[in-house]
Amino acid sequence: MKLKFFGILFLMLMGTEAMADRPYKNCGNGKAEVKAAREWLELNINEILDTPTISGLRRGEKRRLKRKLKNGLLICKGPGTKACSKDRIGVMRHPFRRKAIICYDAIRRYYSQAFCALAGTILHETAHMAGVRKGRTHNKPNGTRTDLVYKTGYAAESLCASQGLDRAIVERK
Ligand SMILES: [Zn+2]
Repeated sequence: MKLKFFGILFLMLMGTEAMADRPYKNCGNGKAEVKAAREWLELNINEILDTPTISGLRRGEKRRLKRKLKNGLLICKGPGTKACSKDRIGVMRHPFRRKAIICYDAIRRYYSQAFCALAGTILHETAHMAGVRKGRTHNKPNGTRTDLVYKTGYAAESLCASQGLDRAIVERK
């Protein structure tokens, strides 16, 4: 009886913890921006997935994309870190596809109106977490940036811009 009660309590606490710790790390003042971008993506994901350029996404890829959008961990990083060196604005780096690094400061620096690029980057990295197929030259210097992962991110960025949502984002600090 007691065990059962504590078991349930434990599960409830775990549940609350998971929700409270809705996965952001190191985003500082930018957390609200990252969160707003991800929430916009969640609200608009069906419309994004209807974009003709990404009609090649498989059903499983779409399903996992939606799931990772909900529970993937987004870690913000600044310049001078290995993950965000050179011209990188995001990278997925985890053997179990659970985390993505968002180069928040780089995005903010490259785009004066950065909100939609931020949303596009989040969805691009989420697509990696979801195991969406990427092209062989995905990030090669002369890569075409036309594989499904890039197109998925761009689809989000375009829809965001077409809704008139692009704007500057705050400094992370
Ligand atoms: Zn990529």
